[in-house]
Amino acid sequence: MIVVMKKGASAQDISNVVGRVELDGYKASLTEGEERTIIGLVGESPTPLREDNYSSMSGVERVMRVSVPYKLTSREYHPMDTHVALNGSQAGANKVLVIAGPCSVESREQTIEIACAVKEAGATALRGGAFKPRTSPYSFQGHGETGLKWLAEARERTGLPIVTEVMDPGLVGMVAEYADVLQVGARNMQNFVLLSEVGRSQHTVLLKRGMANTMEDLLMSAEYILAQGNQRVMLCERGIRTFEKYTRNTFDINAIPVLKARTHLPVIADPSHAVGYSEHVTSIALAAVAAGADGLIVEVHPTPERALSDGRQSLNYDGFKQMMQRIQLVAQAVGRSA
Ligand code: PEP
Ligand code: MN
Repeated sequence: MIVVMKKGASAQDISNVVGRVELDGYKASLTEGEERTIIGLVGESPTPLREDNYSSMSGVERVMRVSVPYKLTSREYHPMDTHVALNGSQAGANKVLVIAGPCSVESREQTIEIACAVKEAGATALRGGAFKPRTSPYSFQGHGETGLKWLAEARERTGLPIVTEVMDPGLVGMVAEYADVLQVGARNMQNFVLLSEVGRSQHTVLLKRGMANTMEDLLMSAEYILAQGNQRVMLCERGIRTFEKYTRNTFDINAIPVLKARTHLPVIADPSHAVGYSEHVTSIALAAVAAGADGLIVEVHPTPERALSDGRQSLNYDGFKQMMQRIQLVAQAVGRSA
């Protein structure tokens, strides 16, 4: 349930409602909007909630039941867009942000070189996996902590924040020492222990949609993070598995406007994993921006044919530069900047 306060509700009115929420055995979660405060009742209590007890209180405009199971994540609970800070910009605001870099961090020199190249082309942040969730145990698994050190060095050189994946709940603390954004990958979207742990870290999180998960599953997974008091979450549509064989996955363009309608969190699109072929990545990126994506995460490699992972879907530097130019045009056409 949420309690929407009137425009001019006093601090005393708000604290009285919070007091009542606590008396009923729930936790009050306050959202201060530009015009009014919304108080969410979260948690479990044996005391049943009665709308009348709250609607008659001073300063209360209305009381609403949140009709969806992902309470804190829902737009009903939090009508205004949440902005997530990234390199002096805000994901979820007007500017379309671009996170770019290799699928895997491969060497110190390469990481620094790619960071400089994507920065020059206008990227907001650097991506790169040091812990890789590979389908085969025989594929390259990433350089681990050494890779994180290379990423940190690339950040020092370029100022670009680092987006990197964490797979193991026990390693969240270590990865968070290097990363600016913790990526939870598609294969771990329902690793609930990991979700709670990245929530507790209070670090910014990029949560990718599982390849066989619904939008509601994704929103429920986000709820695990928000339930730990961490609102700094960006969702990511990266394609789902369908019967189609000419692409790696099927980019669910529906997910962009539908998620934006259902949640206040920023929505990022990953055209690289969604389509799986570099020659189509820019088209999907442009479509995602036109559909309202708050940002893109794109794989870039100087020599994609030699990449240790996901080379077939990685843009080379020229391809990335061209994508960045075309993104600007589409962003402008839909009233955004890039
Ligand atoms: C990645 O970003 O390289 C990755 C492994 O993505 P996903 O989890 O979406 O497959
Ligand atoms: Mn990849």
